Amino acid sequence: MYRKEGGIFPRLLRYAPLTLSTLASLVPDELEASIELNDEIAKKINYNDRPDIVAISAITGTVNRAYAIADHYRKKGVCVVIGGVHASLMPDEALNHADAIVTGMAFETWPQLLLDFKNGTLKRHYDQSPQMNFSNLPLPRKDLLPKFSYISKSTIQATFGCPYKCDFCAVISTQKKYLRRPVEDVIKEISEMNGNFVTFVDPSPMEDKKYIKRLLREMIPLKKMWGGLATVKIGDDEELMDLCAESGCKGLLIGFESVEQDALVEINKGFNVVEKYRNLCARLHERGIAINGTFIFGMDSDTKDTFKRTVDFVQENAIELPRYAIYTPFPGTGAFRKLESQNRILTRNWSLYDVQHVVYQPKNLTPDELFEGSIWAWENTYKYKNIKERIYNSGTSFPISLITNMGYRYYGTRLRNFPNDTIIDLEQKWNSLIT
Ligand code: SF4
Repeated sequence: MYRKEGGIFPRLLRYAPLTLSTLASLVPDELEASIELNDEIAKKINYNDRPDIVAISAITGTVNRAYAIADHYRKKGVCVVIGGVHASLMPDEALNHADAIVTGMAFETWPQLLLDFKNGTLKRHYDQSPQMNFSNLPLPRKDLLPKFSYISKSTIQATFGCPYKCDFCAVISTQKKYLRRPVEDVIKEISEMNGNFVTFVDPSPMEDKKYIKRLLREMIPLKKMWGGLATVKIGDDEELMDLCAESGCKGLLIGFESVEQDALVEINKGFNVVEKYRNLCARLHERGIAINGTFIFGMDSDTKDTFKRTVDFVQENAIELPRYAIYTPFPGTGAFRKLESQNRILTRNWSLYDVQHVVYQPKNLTPDELFEGSIWAWENTYKYKNIKERIYNSGTSFPISLITNMGYRYYGTRLRNFPNDTIIDLEQKWNSLIT
């Protein structure tokens, strides 16, 4: 969604990423470094510069771009470090484009890497131990991000990792243990944020009930509004849903993934129980919490009927902001290993691993049927009449739902213009401009 210089996703809906500003905050003071952050979705990079060290973080869908930038700087003799999700999944590949790589999160390894660089003892590979001390982390340097490029800079993360192992998910590759920051630290960081809306970017923040309930109770006096992620399991805990509402929760991103129970079992997400979805949506709406529901198409049990069944489910349950993805076997995950062993990987062009393109042979659909079915779901869901019906029936905040729906409509109705070949051509064109 956040592809290169602009991408199709409207700038209006982007919140500030935490990776770059967190890494900047971890640069040791003794280096007296001058730091520049370049988030390529927010501003163009000046490729004529010549810093001492360039560090690049990329996910799989953007890693070809990252490699092109890395190669450019290495040709100029600049030391290049690559980290992030893709380098953690494919360390040997990333090493071909970098002087050093960082795998896992980088809270301890990044400052050490910089000190080694200064002392001329840079190693090739820094791997973060999954057990870290999260107390008293410095505040992310959001002041270094461009001023007007995000809907919000009030992003925060309280927990890291996830206790589950969905077969397509890359979270486990970056953080093997489920860790929590001290509640006091999180509350202090929120208290010091400007603005009334806080976005939690934790992939799975509600799995330690004792921890999350304490955090939410302590958020109540702050009188902030917030949005974040949850698994469908939140629906089993009335007290947790109450605390979400009382602490100011206005929206939750929930990975429903499928309305077919067989598909959920297939992807190792059987704890999502389709029968409970309806009740979950109703309980959240009663509390004024909007739902950003995510769904995946293309699992082996999916058929041509799955697209309509999913769109019908979304409409019937007034899911305010649905998002559809194509099943994507990220390299290094169980999904990739399974499909590779069955000779079903169609391309290793990582630029297409962006959850909107088909990169493997589906079982009961052709690749075209899967792409077209996904586009159909986007276009149908974001017809004006369907937007109106969902917003009206959900009963949650009309202005927020309307703005976000218009953003998703803008995105979903343009996806058709970006089939696999177009993405590959655009990538080559964009990368040829790095000089
Ligand atoms: S619950 Fe979410 S974060 Fe956890 S493994 Fe599954 S998809 Fe990944």
